[in-house]
Amino acid sequence: MLPGFAGKPGTALQAGCLGAVAPILGHLWEKPVYWNPEIETLSAEQLRQLQLERLRATLARALASPFYRERLAASDLRPGDLTSLEEVRRLPFTTKEDLRARGPDFLTVPRDLLVRLHASSGTTGQATVVYYTRTDIEAWAELVARSMYMTGVRPGDVFQNMMGYGLFTGGLGFHYGGERLGCLTIPAGAGNSRRQVQLMVQFQTTVLHIIPSYALYLLNVFAEMGVDPRELPVRIAFIGAEPHSEDMRRRIETAYGLKAYNSYGLSEMNGPGVAFECPEQNGMHVWEDAYLLEVVDPQTLETLPPGVVGELVFTNLTREGMPLIRYRTRDLASYEDAPCPCGRAMRRISRIQGRTDDMIIIKGVNIFPLQIEKVLMSLPEVHTNYLVELSRHNYNDIMTVKVEVKESFFKEDLRYLTNLRKRITEALKSELLITPVVELVEPNTLPVSEGKALRILDRRHEA
Ligand code: AMP
Ligand code: ZN
Repeated sequence: MLPGFAGKPGTALQAGCLGAVAPILGHLWEKPVYWNPEIETLSAEQLRQLQLERLRATLARALASPFYRERLAASDLRPGDLTSLEEVRRLPFTTKEDLRARGPDFLTVPRDLLVRLHASSGTTGQATVVYYTRTDIEAWAELVARSMYMTGVRPGDVFQNMMGYGLFTGGLGFHYGGERLGCLTIPAGAGNSRRQVQLMVQFQTTVLHIIPSYALYLLNVFAEMGVDPRELPVRIAFIGAEPHSEDMRRRIETAYGLKAYNSYGLSEMNGPGVAFECPEQNGMHVWEDAYLLEVVDPQTLETLPPGVVGELVFTNLTREGMPLIRYRTRDLASYEDAPCPCGRAMRRISRIQGRTDDMIIIKGVNIFPLQIEKVLMSLPEVHTNYLVELSRHNYNDIMTVKVEVKESFFKEDLRYLTNLRKRITEALKSELLITPVVELVEPNTLPVSEGKALRILDRRHEA
């Protein structure tokens, strides 16, 4: 822990000096780049040793829950038997269905020790509920604070948290992290676009937490209000909660004049702060002192080596109230264990490529929404939003991609637009291997979500 900060975040700062303090501290604190040097500078070997100890402890704790008592009774493995991390593979997986069906049976502590619950945003289907003890809330805030610090956020920064508060973990998770670090934290919440811009101007926000599709949408509101985000002091944004491409990140960085860092988490693993980009922006470090990472083939469930895309599986290593073992996230990514120039030995995961369950199968071809986005966002004519509609005619699946085109290009003549439509169709076809129907629409005409963007409308069952 950094001297002076541990246990008393933000004490060095008082309000009234917002503009002045951030640059001074930014300078003073440039050197120690680790929020928790003890953990963040562990060698890979020390990290594995720590993980093994914590895995044994987690297993022992999990046995206090009715679910794992039953599950693990069937396995011949006892916590003390674990002699290597690889042996975790002898334990059964935990799935979202298990959580839905047996929710409270995962608890390892009496109910009156729980201080919070959250529910997943229901990316797919019915929400799942997760519970936290006070210690869990503190450990989670610590991981988020650590993540933010890693990218250069410092006490005195003004942090506007534009994520939905409430049951979704993105809002409160980052809120506690920001406060823990010592930021002046603005609980802006999601939506209310004009107000978001006003807050940024009034409080001279320096750090944002924002859903990437919303960040692009908000640019229209900036334009309407005559405010140039590049003129504001905002210098860092955390973007996460939904898959997005490198091009989308670059667009956000250029339009706002900031550095945007990918942030990954899921409510089943507390929420945000599971994996986070460092200033190298070359993959997200998994906080391996708190989460044991595995990447498996979603069909065979075999362990996959570095560089191969598979399903992320996590085991909690420090959770008290509801430790989960080998939780199948349904998120698809690969991992990298080569050393990162930032000095952290924590392994890095790639951008999330999609989910095992948002994969669309059309005419026998597997398609991930991110592939479509990658193509569209690389075209300068494309505005901020798009929508994919799947329909069925005479047993034939049709994919219609509605694409917003920037105002300046819509002014062009019909021949130009016809040609643009053809180019987009060709580009999508070469990426997806099927030919979509492309429709060009005027900017800001497609529906915008305040939460995760809704990109795919599957109407095939209506046919
Ligand atoms: P929730 O359980 O509501 O917190 O939603 C978690 C899910 O959001 C994850 O399992 C991912 O599918 C998605 N998600 C979160 N962060 C990212 C990210 N940085 N990139 C892509 N998808 C993300
Ligand atoms: Zn790094």
